[in-house]
Amino acid sequence: MSARAVATGSINLGQGFPDRDGPAKIARAAADAILDGRGNQYPPGPGIPELRRAVAAHDERFYRLRYGPDDEVLVTAGATEAIAAAMLALVEPGDEVIAFEPYYDSYAANIAMAGGVRVPVTLRPPGFRPDTGELARAITQRTRLILLNSPDNPTGSVFSRDELAAIAALAVEHDLLVVTDEVYEHLVFDGEHVPIAGFPGMRDRTVSVSSAGKTFSFTGWKIGWVKAAPELVAAVKTAKQFLTFVSGGPFQYAVAEALALPDAYYAGLRAGLRAQRDLLTSGLSEIGFEVYPPQGTYFVTADIRSLGYEDGVEFCRMLPDRAGVVAIPTAIFYDYPEAARSHVRFAFCKRPEVLTEALRRLAKLTR
Ligand code: PMP
Repeated sequence: MSARAVATGSINLGQGFPDRDGPAKIARAAADAILDGRGNQYPPGPGIPELRRAVAAHDERFYRLRYGPDDEVLVTAGATEAIAAAMLALVEPGDEVIAFEPYYDSYAANIAMAGGVRVPVTLRPPGFRPDTGELARAITQRTRLILLNSPDNPTGSVFSRDELAAIAALAVEHDLLVVTDEVYEHLVFDGEHVPIAGFPGMRDRTVSVSSAGKTFSFTGWKIGWVKAAPELVAAVKTAKQFLTFVSGGPFQYAVAEALALPDAYYAGLRAGLRAQRDLLTSGLSEIGFEVYPPQGTYFVTADIRSLGYEDGVEFCRMLPDRAGVVAIPTAIFYDYPEAARSHVRFAFCKRPEVLTEALRRLAKLTR
């Protein structure tokens, strides 16, 4: 869809990347690292110590969770590699992996690469809440782990403390691992982000994944990390060793600085994106979409039936030519696409004037 956006001159509200880079000071830190010769040769396998320490300090600062930088933190090539390595390390052929759908598209591929069996539990509108009864029924003797994503892409749902407590209790009761993708941890507009690793019995059965892309608006740098108990980190590192071994040396120095930015940075990021969310969600509602306002992330899901359309895939195919805007049909994120046949996802991580122009174009749909 990004290629279609370029080919048709459309505004790309499909792929989730910001149209403004992160702090200049952090970009300069990356440039300085390159010019100073820091990280230009293979960095250490687990990541540079400065970044591992910064990740640990970040989690203590925001969540009061303690990780040992030497054996409980691993730097990866984005969250994408972290999730892939975690699946390859922890899932044996035939193991079942429960994931809430709609899910980020790499999950299905990663579970398949590990020979695992995907077991979806569907998040349903309007709230896209996790149904923990359904989750309990999905657990079998073969279940190895639960793959979580909160704040969730594409729905924007942020799991509440009570929902996470219920998921954690099931994981403990059935002795399951949890791999939790928290790349949108700082993009929560309503409610709060609560790491599942902090619940009773979870610290040593949870592999927490995050990355710098969304938090610092440098999605091209692909610096991510894993936090977990030493034996789980060692397992993930063994898989990672033969995926990339290491990556992004100089960027690791810059991200170490970024994580230590003051609270005002994090608050400013959230406030800016909240305003962009409000602009897009209210504009889409005014045009006539049924909008499911997200609590977090970069994305809003809208139902197109209220505008007289039925099929999100067809709608998104015609949208660039009809309106000069690109969106994504969320049915592609489901094993049971019927649950979302009429849903489309718009990204609001774009400048307000770009969102306003996209809304002006989308208004043509009702004329
Ligand atoms: N997980 C989710 C839910 C995402 O939305 C994304 C990026 N779109 C990623 C992981 C990938 O993160 P990274 O760029 O750090 O690999």
